[in-house]
Amino acid sequence: MNSLKSDFLRYLGQTNPAPLRVEIDHAQGCYLYSPSGKKYLDLISGFSVSNIGHGHPKVKKAIRDQLDRHLHTMVYGEYVQAPQVQYAKLLSKQLPDTLNQVFFVNSGSEAIEGAMKLAKRHTGQHELISFKNAYHGSTHGALSIMGSEYYKTAFRPLLPSTKLLDFNNFDQLSLISEQTAAVIIEPIQAEAGIIEPEVDFLKALRQRCNETHTMLILDEVQTGFGRTGTLFAFEQYGFIPDILVLAKALGGGLPLGAFIASSDLMKELTHDPVLGHITTFGGHPLSCAAGKAALEIILEEDLPGKAKADGEYVLHNMNHHLITEKRGKGLFLAFRLQKAEQVKKFFDICPENGVLFDLFLFNDDSFRIAPPLIINADERDEMLKLISKCLDKVG
Ligand code: PMP
Repeated sequence: MNSLKSDFLRYLGQTNPAPLRVEIDHAQGCYLYSPSGKKYLDLISGFSVSNIGHGHPKVKKAIRDQLDRHLHTMVYGEYVQAPQVQYAKLLSKQLPDTLNQVFFVNSGSEAIEGAMKLAKRHTGQHELISFKNAYHGSTHGALSIMGSEYYKTAFRPLLPSTKLLDFNNFDQLSLISEQTAAVIIEPIQAEAGIIEPEVDFLKALRQRCNETHTMLILDEVQTGFGRTGTLFAFEQYGFIPDILVLAKALGGGLPLGAFIASSDLMKELTHDPVLGHITTFGGHPLSCAAGKAALEIILEEDLPGKAKADGEYVLHNMNHHLITEKRGKGLFLAFRLQKAEQVKKFFDICPENGVLFDLFLFNDDSFRIAPPLIINADERDEMLKLISKCLDKVG
């Protein structure tokens, strides 16, 4: 093992007993490169972060320009900083009128925390409802609404008054009540293995939340920014959330999260108590400059429309005798194999064959395809060939 790899294990806190340990020297477009020049096709995009690919010149320029002006100056919300204001304006222009104010934070987890607090503050209700096999982050609040007891038990006690429902179960919507401050849901469940909502499930949920004065918090941390074929996935399902949670691709490759709501709702964080949510680095000027440049690229190049077409192409052309089911839309796809062991073997074979992907948290018999949305036709076909080649080696 080279010294960087052993120092990685020696000096960095680890998340699991067997990390991937692929060493990255640089990245460009849809590829990551090792120090020896080995090239990897990126089918994870940092879990839906790198929607515009790696090293985009416009994003690098925006970061450099901002770097020359200023870095951090003050906690979020006090000084007027152009990158934050301009990015918030561009974001709200893409959203329905009721999602017109952006509260920038650092990550998806922090955005979920802020959104849950805002819902409790606004409704005066206390219960938080989420769905089985949902992942919303790793902080105590976000963990409390995670849809898996396995990941929660060791850290209890967590937040009280939480409840898990089955995704796509219309009957269980009646469990949402006047006690429920918020229902937190992903439009397409990511870590569950890319599970789409049944027709009208999200509309029925919206209706039930209206009846019980419950805030509907939509987690588009993975699905946002064109990944599923529209800029935001909710556009495809005929409903509007009260609070939209974004992160990952939001920062164009730098850390950034946000919860977005109406200005009426958002102002509740300014009184009783004042400073209802505060954050030092939230909306960092570099992250906002990079995120705005990335969003401009997504809009200019119609990456959502391209993702939609590419997704249809991949679903149609990704065929192998080991694949038993195909799921998803846009470039947010899952392929089920006959057995979980085959997925594990596939996962181990891929890096040496120049492809990188990662497993789902709550689904061990499927693998995901989520490349940068800028993937071109040649790279897309190379991807299909490489996956078939790796699947052949599995059996
Ligand atoms: N929500 C979803 C759907 C996620 O996938 C993630 C991260 N994987 C989060 C929230 C938490 O985001 P972060 O890791 O930035 O805290």
